[in-house]
Amino acid sequence: MQYNGLMAKKIIIGNWKMNPTSLAEAKRLYTDIKKGAPRIRMAEIVICPPAPYLAALTGPGKSVILGAQDSAEETQGAFTGSSSPLALKSVGVQAVILGHSERRAKGEADDLINLKIKAALKAGLRIILCVGETVRDEQGDYLVVLRSQLESCLADISKTQMNKIAIAYEPVWAIGAQATSADTPEGFLHNAIYIRQTLSKLKGASAAKTPILYGGSVSVKNAESFLVDGKADGLLVGRESLKAKNFLAIAELTSRAA
Ligand code: PEP
Repeated sequence: MQYNGLMAKKIIIGNWKMNPTSLAEAKRLYTDIKKGAPRIRMAEIVICPPAPYLAALTGPGKSVILGAQDSAEETQGAFTGSSSPLALKSVGVQAVILGHSERRAKGEADDLINLKIKAALKAGLRIILCVGETVRDEQGDYLVVLRSQLESCLADISKTQMNKIAIAYEPVWAIGAQATSADTPEGFLHNAIYIRQTLSKLKGASAAKTPILYGGSVSVKNAESFLVDGKADGLLVGRESLKAKNFLAIAELTSRAA
């Protein structure tokens, strides 16, 4: 996965969350996605299964990049229950989602996410940093939340390191089965512009190259509009990534945005 600014290809990420509940099912789903992935020309596909399955899913083939859903803020030592980014790298993981709202809901704050980003970068992983507001207000106060998340999570990250970071804009109210709706492509585009402006203030010209993805109730029905009208550099897909056919259909829609 090259976040090199050329952005010829979109980045389509599948976040399986805490599904499925057996290795056999995980292998089946991964194999089905892997089988269909070579026909997707305009997207890099990143699959993020639960941690217990990662080592069993690595193998030959470059059509799918393996990602983790979290990694520790330390690389080694007395940290019971944590997954070292070095250990993840050693089993073939190349990318990690950090700052997902479902982890933030469990108390993970920006300063911890910042440490996790630094440890993951040290281990050579690429980062998908999730940001997003819980509530969208008409006055635009939520933009302060986005700015503050970006400022804190990316503190002391160098311009060069930014080449390894993609931002997933995921409004929390649009994520998961309890979501009332997805964002609109216009809403996403507006916020992606704001995120890029903020990144450029924080990190200079390198921000022009940072992929900004949309996540939140992405489906086969709405994916094209986020990619084409919303100009998203990619999509972070939750529930629909658990159905190989739908996930591949979403990834295939990237050809319409080429
Ligand atoms: C997610 O997991 O980040 C997500 C956006 O989930 P869903 O697509 O199910 O809303």
